[in-house]
Amino acid sequence: MKLIFERSQEGRGCSILPACDVPEVDCSPEISRKAPLHLPQIAEVDISRHYTELMKQTHGVNDGFYPLGSCTMKYNPKINEEIAALPGFSKIHPLQPSHTAQGCLEVLGLAEKYLCEITGMDHMTFQPAAGAHGEFTGLLLIKAYHKSRGDTARTKIIVPDSAHGTNPASAVMAGFTVVNIPSGEDGCVDLEKLRQAVGEDTAGLMLTNPNTVGIFDKNILEITKTVHDAGGLNYYDGANLNAVMGVVRPGDMGFDVVHLNLHKTFSTPHGGGPGSGPVGCKELLSAFLPSGHVSCEEDGTYGFDAPSPRSIGSVKNFYGNFLVVVKALTYILTLGREGIKEAAQNAVLNANYLMARLSDLYDMPYAGPCMHEFVMSLEPLKKEKGVTAMDIAKALLDHGIHPPTMYFPLIVHEALMAEPTETESIDTLDGAAQTFREIYQQALDNPQSLHDAPVSTPVRRLDEVGAARNPKPTYSF
Ligand SMILES: *Cc1c(COP(=O)(O)O)cnc(C)c1O
Repeated sequence: MKLIFERSQEGRGCSILPACDVPEVDCSPEISRKAPLHLPQIAEVDISRHYTELMKQTHGVNDGFYPLGSCTMKYNPKINEEIAALPGFSKIHPLQPSHTAQGCLEVLGLAEKYLCEITGMDHMTFQPAAGAHGEFTGLLLIKAYHKSRGDTARTKIIVPDSAHGTNPASAVMAGFTVVNIPSGEDGCVDLEKLRQAVGEDTAGLMLTNPNTVGIFDKNILEITKTVHDAGGLNYYDGANLNAVMGVVRPGDMGFDVVHLNLHKTFSTPHGGGPGSGPVGCKELLSAFLPSGHVSCEEDGTYGFDAPSPRSIGSVKNFYGNFLVVVKALTYILTLGREGIKEAAQNAVLNANYLMARLSDLYDMPYAGPCMHEFVMSLEPLKKEKGVTAMDIAKALLDHGIHPPTMYFPLIVHEALMAEPTETESIDTLDGAAQTFREIYQQALDNPQSLHDAPVSTPVRRLDEVGAARNPKPTYSF
């Protein structure tokens, strides 16, 4: 397909701006443009077709099954978009006096109240714009806490080897040293290794539970206690809370600080658009939260708290991506207490159903039951037939299925990590199981055909490493 610049024709356009009705101003020559801007010249209908064509070449949850593990790609109710688009929410200015924005402040106040209830935390900030941004913020809270107690020797964050890659990266960005600990055979934290790792230099532990192999750590209380006993704090990566929300709470598992990905679990698609990674914490960390925290007065009016002198400062301008919070609140209010729990139960049910339908063929390194996702290993098939996880993933594209997450977590060789999500019907799961099974048979019968996949997509196999290492973000005219 042609690039928009290649479709450009001199003199075409779709400008419908009225003539300028104010005096034109001459910019000083040093700041004015020397050559005209290279904008494509295209009629409106052709622009519209161009983007529609582009849209048709991508796969989203509106096109078909999208079991991307560790990402919660689910169908998000359209009502949430409609509520977020209401002018009272979307046309607000962040510097408006708070008495003119009471409804918006109430949204922040209520969202905090419900998300604190769901996570078992006492306070929450909505400033962070993504999961990794939340991790960074939460770690700064931990750092500020130790510093405020004069405990400056605590420089290390313990991260299990099954962690999402953003965990160690955020810890390093927040100025900590990362201590990696291996998982046990069962995919859970190796308690003995943890006990050896903690000490007077431990600032905290970062943990995802259920972890990235889809297992709820049976020793979670022992784990968080071990860290607390050593004087450290516990950080919960709650990016994918949909396996446990409404059922168990990080705060009750012994965690002091948690981030959520509203753009995974709470009704904003993950990837592409603005996200929100709110950070919740227990009382002991609240003085360090970023500014812009909303409270409700006794008379029912909402306002901002006075900035805390011990705050870590702002991590983003104003109050974060507000409209993502509006969608999350709409989602929570629509589902209610029972609905939230049911969504979690369905997430777990769907993952176990798909896992059970595949486990006689595909190697599952960690025995079920799983939580919201499970990991397959294509290592046996690779040894036997030379067919890799990548081959299977690419073959799925020819069947209209987005591949599971590939080669993650790193502790599983030839990993495919699938998360069906709670919104998929049994028919979709049955169809997907059938496809996975057919592809497996194809791998046994005709391995070469899988090395050639995909054959029906707009582009075939791409040089993914080249695209990441040598991106060409500019067009040369
Ligand atoms: C997605 C994810 C993150 C990072 O979230 P971003 O919004 O992409 O920065 C962190 N941890 C886990 C477990 C995740 O699944």
